[in-house]
Amino acid sequence: MQKHDRDGDLPSRSEPAVVLDIPRKPQWPAGISVSKSHTLKCFVPDGLQVVLTKEAFEQLFGYAYATNREISCMGVVRRHGSAFIVERFHLVAQEGGSAHTEMDPVALGSLIETLLGEGKADEVRAIKCWAHSHPGMGCFWSKTDDDTCRLLATDFLISLVVSDGFAIRARLDVGGPVPFTVDEVPVIMEIQPDEEVLKRYGQEVAEKVKEAVGLPMGKTPRPENAGGLFDDGVWSDYYGRTYGFLEEDETAVLDAVADDREPF
Ligand SMILES: [Zn+2]
Repeated sequence: MQKHDRDGDLPSRSEPAVVLDIPRKPQWPAGISVSKSHTLKCFVPDGLQVVLTKEAFEQLFGYAYATNREISCMGVVRRHGSAFIVERFHLVAQEGGSAHTEMDPVALGSLIETLLGEGKADEVRAIKCWAHSHPGMGCFWSKTDDDTCRLLATDFLISLVVSDGFAIRARLDVGGPVPFTVDEVPVIMEIQPDEEVLKRYGQEVAEKVKEAVGLPMGKTPRPENAGGLFDDGVWSDYYGRTYGFLEEDETAVLDAVADDREPF
């Protein structure tokens, strides 16, 4: 019986019969869950950070801001605990595109070859950072960037993306049996104090700063390891009141900081 002949819904006899779609076998379950279902948790060590040496910082932004095209460079990384110190970068030969630059494996290969030729095998082993720029686009990871990070992360890889106004973003990709990514890793630029200069400042303080009765420093000794010079309440207050209104060549009588008084 062909009830729908009128509508032409059914195939004519000359067409092949419809093959029934037999449902595939379902996936056999891996097991029966015996734990409560929770969101997965992951812990990262305290102090996880990317540290750029002054040289690396200047190279990175120097390269990035020298062109309005995207650039890629590879960094030499030294690990100190959970701090990843990028010591310097090597700019690889590349064709910069305004939209996207992939890390060219051939160019990377030739960089490695050059370094090996110069007897810098350790330097090659320490190339664990890929940095690139996003001129005028902000700091984010594109699909291509993700792929590149995963591809270059053997044991681990630090990736950096920079954009206008010294914007920077860092991530850590860890390889191995369960690859994972930690994004938004803090970045700092290393400050290497000049020991000689610090010694001179110490001598200057020893010569000029004497303890005297009635001075705030006698009453409230500045704690060891206090932060910046004027970022602690008592001192910034003292500094502001005592020196904030003076010209360079004027002097003030040092006075203990008292509670707020009515002006005049
Ligand atoms: Zn990108």
